[in-house]
Amino acid sequence: MTNPLLEDRTLPDFGRIRPEHVEPAVDQLIADGRALVAELAAKADEATWEGFVERIEIEDDRFSRAWAPVSHLNSVLNSDELRAAYNACLPKLSEYASEVGQNADLFRGYQRIAERPDLNPAQRKMLANTLRDLHLAGVDLPEDKKARYRDISQSLSRLTNQFAENVLDATNGWHKHITDESALAGLPDAAKALARQAAAERKLDGWVLTLDFPSFEPVMKHADDRALRREVYEAFSTRASDQGPQAGGWDNTAVMEEILALRHERAQLLGFDNYAELSLAPKMARDTDEVMSFLNDLADRAIHQARAELQELRDFARETDGLDDLAPWDLMYYGEKLRVARFDISDEDLKPYFPLEGVISGMFRVAERLFDVRFEPAETDNLWHPDVRRYVVKDTDGSPWAEFYLDPFARQKKQGGAWMNGAVSRMVMGGRSQQPIAYLVCNFTPPVDGHPSLLTHREVETLFHEFGHGLHHMLTRVDYPPVAGIHGVPWDAVELPSQFLENWCWERESLDLFARHHETGEPIPDALFQRLLDAKHFQSAMQMVRQLEFALFDFRIHLEYDPARGARIYEILDQVRDQVAALKPPAWNRFPHGFSHIFAGGYAAGYFSYKWAEVLSADAFSLFEERGVFDADTGHRFREIILERGGSSDAMELFTTFRGREPKVDALLRHSGIGTHLQPATDAETAIQDVA
Ligand SMILES: [Zn+2]
Repeated sequence: MTNPLLEDRTLPDFGRIRPEHVEPAVDQLIADGRALVAELAAKADEATWEGFVERIEIEDDRFSRAWAPVSHLNSVLNSDELRAAYNACLPKLSEYASEVGQNADLFRGYQRIAERPDLNPAQRKMLANTLRDLHLAGVDLPEDKKARYRDISQSLSRLTNQFAENVLDATNGWHKHITDESALAGLPDAAKALARQAAAERKLDGWVLTLDFPSFEPVMKHADDRALRREVYEAFSTRASDQGPQAGGWDNTAVMEEILALRHERAQLLGFDNYAELSLAPKMARDTDEVMSFLNDLADRAIHQARAELQELRDFARETDGLDDLAPWDLMYYGEKLRVARFDISDEDLKPYFPLEGVISGMFRVAERLFDVRFEPAETDNLWHPDVRRYVVKDTDGSPWAEFYLDPFARQKKQGGAWMNGAVSRMVMGGRSQQPIAYLVCNFTPPVDGHPSLLTHREVETLFHEFGHGLHHMLTRVDYPPVAGIHGVPWDAVELPSQFLENWCWERESLDLFARHHETGEPIPDALFQRLLDAKHFQSAMQMVRQLEFALFDFRIHLEYDPARGARIYEILDQVRDQVAALKPPAWNRFPHGFSHIFAGGYAAGYFSYKWAEVLSADAFSLFEERGVFDADTGHRFREIILERGGSSDAMELFTTFRGREPKVDALLRHSGIGTHLQPATDAETAIQDVA
């Protein structure tokens, strides 16, 4: 029996992958990798591009083509067996990565090649990144410190994975069974149908509410029963903690403390004062002062408006229901009611115009017009779930250029939120030539009772967002994987194409390409579209300060970490909330315990990247505002300069080449409706990723 993970094909045969294939495949790949490293290290003084760099890249690519599907399946089709196999590999992978990262002979080989005068700019950038990353992996540390660095890496790999597992288990660990329909008063029919489906899946009568986003959000927004909202809010905001209905189960308290301590120690080993400094080493932002002033400046601009918006909401709740103590579990509920009262628009009004199938084809048409590419549905044999679709990306001459997989719906054992991941990187080197493949994963409401999946406008934005990341990965023309697509792009610039593409969800011209009522085929009526625009700035300052709260909290816990005092997670969060929160949550709120972005994802001391990149994306889009949202020349230039070149050039240089000047914050403020209510805005928050 052959191992499907070791077969030489771009994508594995998903239908044949079993948990028992995982560890043997990883063992084999590590053994092969070690043999190659030993061979190359022994002749590092004769290292050449072809005989050294290309051979390492070929082996790395083979490795990632085997591991990417495993880690993908672990996120979208989790099971006890797969999780055990995945977890068994983590320490081996971490050890191997440290070994390679700290190999001084390899480092010397790379240095030697980097000095060659005949390298092209992409090769030069790739080598500069590699040398920097080896330095950050501890290659030039003395032996005892190298050993400690490796221990830290091992522990962090285990702990961050533990954090994510705790959040997933705590999310799946809670549900509420309801047998009396009156408890669900206010919920839209689609949400009730979903709750009924969730009950049926558990062989229960009535309705079941869960903490998955498609269940959680409608309750917070529409359930008239305040006690129910509070109950669901409490279960959600205490996941994986010492509080709430599952208190002590899957508790992340100690995990977070340890993660922060180890990150700090690693930063100091490398000569940085703290982990925030280490985090910035490969980013666009120059230093920690620049990040703190950026965030504090935005906070100063937004907080008064946010507090005024909250006061307006308090007044509204008092007038409507005589409510005197507006609480966090009332924010979305009265927010939605106030939005309807003021702008006569609710999420439900727009959903009929956004059936998933129509949105997907419209999104393709937008990209076709902007970037001159084509999209075609393709066969879907042997995938991991029947919901998954596959698309081929073609150039104007019809030649295939890339492909991607879309896994659209929420289901059990699938990680919440939305994301894009590279499955295969574009690679033209060392005799190998392959096209990029991407995974796009969302958690939309599945079709229920014969009705199609209808998206909220916010969900349409989410799909465009992930598609923007996908285009960055797929349209690259760079031949070397470490700087192709999103690889090598500084983390604080990586959200540029994704947030940029969200803008086309707000333009009449692009909505007319796809937004059609799923029953009547009518486009969005003018009056409804106008109300959508009018409502665009609604509570935008409250949303801005919420993102700033996350960003400041994340940055400060890493910047101010002091081993003598511990992580002080809630002390710092409290200070941040005094500064930027519109409404402070109750003391039992345990938001950090579920903040996977920074404790399990790549955003540690980097959550500010969303806002940072939003400056870039808003400013880039302002060029389309000046020249027309489908201006062909501007679209092609965006494709050529930003999407195709990926990480092969300096991010600031690419931006200024495209925009004709350095980025300015003005467009972001205008688009977010901060300090002005005159212009249409783009509130490119990533609420779904943040909350779920
Ligand atoms: Zn993103």
